[in-house]
Amino acid sequence: MRTGPAVADATHLLEGTGPPGPRAAAAGPPAQRATWAEVDVAAIRANTAWLRARSNAPALLAAVKADGYGHGLEIAARAAVAGGADWLGVALVEEGAALRAAGIDVPVLLFAEPPVAAIPALLDAGLTPAAYSPAFLAALDAAAVARGGPPVGVHLKLDTGMRRVGVPPADWEDALRRVRAAPGLALDGLWSHLAVADEPGHPFTVQQAAAFRRGLALARGLGLAPRLAHLCNSAATLTLPDEHHDLVRPGIALYGLDPGGGLTAGTPLRPALALYSRLSLVKRLAAGEAVSYGLRWTAARATTVGTVPAGYADGVTRALTNRGMVLVNGRERPMVGTICMDQLLVDLGDDEARVGDEVVLLGEQGGRRVSAEDWASRLGTITYEVATSIGARVPRVPVRA
Ligand SMILES: *Cc1c(COP(=O)(O)O)cnc(C)c1O
Repeated sequence: MRTGPAVADATHLLEGTGPPGPRAAAAGPPAQRATWAEVDVAAIRANTAWLRARSNAPALLAAVKADGYGHGLEIAARAAVAGGADWLGVALVEEGAALRAAGIDVPVLLFAEPPVAAIPALLDAGLTPAAYSPAFLAALDAAAVARGGPPVGVHLKLDTGMRRVGVPPADWEDALRRVRAAPGLALDGLWSHLAVADEPGHPFTVQQAAAFRRGLALARGLGLAPRLAHLCNSAATLTLPDEHHDLVRPGIALYGLDPGGGLTAGTPLRPALALYSRLSLVKRLAAGEAVSYGLRWTAARATTVGTVPAGYADGVTRALTNRGMVLVNGRERPMVGTICMDQLLVDLGDDEARVGDEVVLLGEQGGRRVSAEDWASRLGTITYEVATSIGARVPRVPVRA
């Protein structure tokens, strides 16, 4: 599983931290760091291809915002494009500009209006903006006209019920007329976003989908022909085949993670992100000894405790204190004591364990798996937050490219 060329290239940089763990020779960080994330490029590529083939829409936009959901912006974008993604989606102008700087030239949709001051950068990068407010539409039109050249394609976002961003229904006609009248703008897309797609069968989704169809009909009635109508995130791509329109917009499922509700169960989607470390110190504790800040865990009996050089600054959130689980030498071992910024402790019982042994924080070892879904359920959150919380200082090592 973990023997891609990038790994082989990186092994010579491994820190000599003692005897290797079971698969230590096959992987390692690209720097002198005992904590690293591996990103399975083939998994993102295959997940993208599967979703695109399964969808009723002729095109797929891969959401790569937030550093490719924590997988690395460029790694995720290239893998998705290799898997057939026609578009990429980002939250910020700087994310889109970073894609362009990396030489990625597929169409990029900006999911929300940036501040007006970002319009020049947006146009320089050739991004396609979401638009919904009269002020932004006017500023974008003026900037596009001032630059000359063809009109700038916009994706007008209709609020069909999420009440976050988008044009509220009472203003749909006005917004459509504004775009139609703007010499610097062209209506490339019309779109919306679902609030409860991760709860299949929810009546609110039916209402939103119907509202979106009304918006499309309104646009057509005004003589507008948006090239791309789109509504579906991962959950809706998996569960609402009749609402795919011209483009689906999955994010989390591309990374093989569940949007919630177990929607990826039984699919070939597989997780791309793994988080590894190595034991940096191993010591014996006597019964009654406590560990870490606040002394919040006490050994009930004599035991071996290992130190792992990964902490909340690496994305192992402090809420996992006395709740998280890792894999060491093929066995599940609990995180014990307060998670620190840079380190955490694990109870190894009476196992033989040595400095340098591989610790799996997310991923597989010895046929067992710790998943982002496990973390999410322990923490009362969602896989999205687990993945995007992996710290910027954790090197992302692409494997199986
Ligand atoms: C993030 C995002 C998506 C992708 O959502 P997933 O639930 O990750 O599939 C799609 N559309 C918009 C507008 C988004 O912000």
